Amino acid sequence: MVQRKPLVAGNWKMNGLAADLGEISRCCEHVAELGTSLAAEVMFCPPATLISATVERCRSARVAVGAQDCHVAQSGAHTGDLSAHMLRDAGASAVIVGHSERRGDHGETDALVGAKAAAAHDAGLTAIICIGETAGQRHYGLTLNVLERQISGSVPNAATGSNTIIAYEPVWAIGTGLTPTPDDVANAHAFMRERLGGLIGAAEAAQIRLLYGGSVKPANARELMQIADVDGALVGGASLKANDFCGIIDAFVTK
Ligand code: PEP
Repeated sequence: MVQRKPLVAGNWKMNGLAADLGEISRCCEHVAELGTSLAAEVMFCPPATLISATVERCRSARVAVGAQDCHVAQSGAHTGDLSAHMLRDAGASAVIVGHSERRGDHGETDALVGAKAAAAHDAGLTAIICIGETAGQRHYGLTLNVLERQISGSVPNAATGSNTIIAYEPVWAIGTGLTPTPDDVANAHAFMRERLGGLIGAAEAAQIRLLYGGSVKPANARELMQIADVDGALVGGASLKANDFCGIIDAFVTK
């Protein structure tokens, strides 16, 4: 029987100053209060400037800390970039790679995202690999083709349930308030699981957590998180405020 502990990860993107860390502390207090009634792991992915301070705030509640991107190299002449080893050194245990904003804003290809995921693995970080179709691709019925291409191009062959998480984030759902239907999410996640099986074998694919991301909020979290093969959420805007993020975390409280 496969046991995948759900993960609720908050991606702060390019938001947050030291003065905003109180939001993280409030969430951590909430997680600590929930104790074993919370059937999920929680993670914050703040901007790199706040990783160390976030690690300090999260330690006692055992809330994890991730980064938002990494370079493929371990070190070298890459001004402004951060390696996976540096992120690990700062206290991160995971790193998001291939977010659609990086694919779009920085022209990141599947091959580059795959190399970043491999660099994360080398550094001992969990790679949270983001995939998802644009509105145009969805309009032309290409969603599964896009997911197929992104999985085969950006998931390393060495991916396992402990070093890799995949986040399905339809680009048109990010920050828009729009979400796919539960059936669409279920179909996408079943397809992803099946394609991962083709890449790394069904037994290993069954261990990999598949997150849904795109306009998750307290009001829709419970419904989205009950969908088959959805193992948690990657949350953008609603992770910035403790009240909202705690409302999403509460979708994982067992009675
Ligand atoms: C994201 O960008 O990863 C995301 C899910 O954003 P939002 O929750 O704001 O749609």
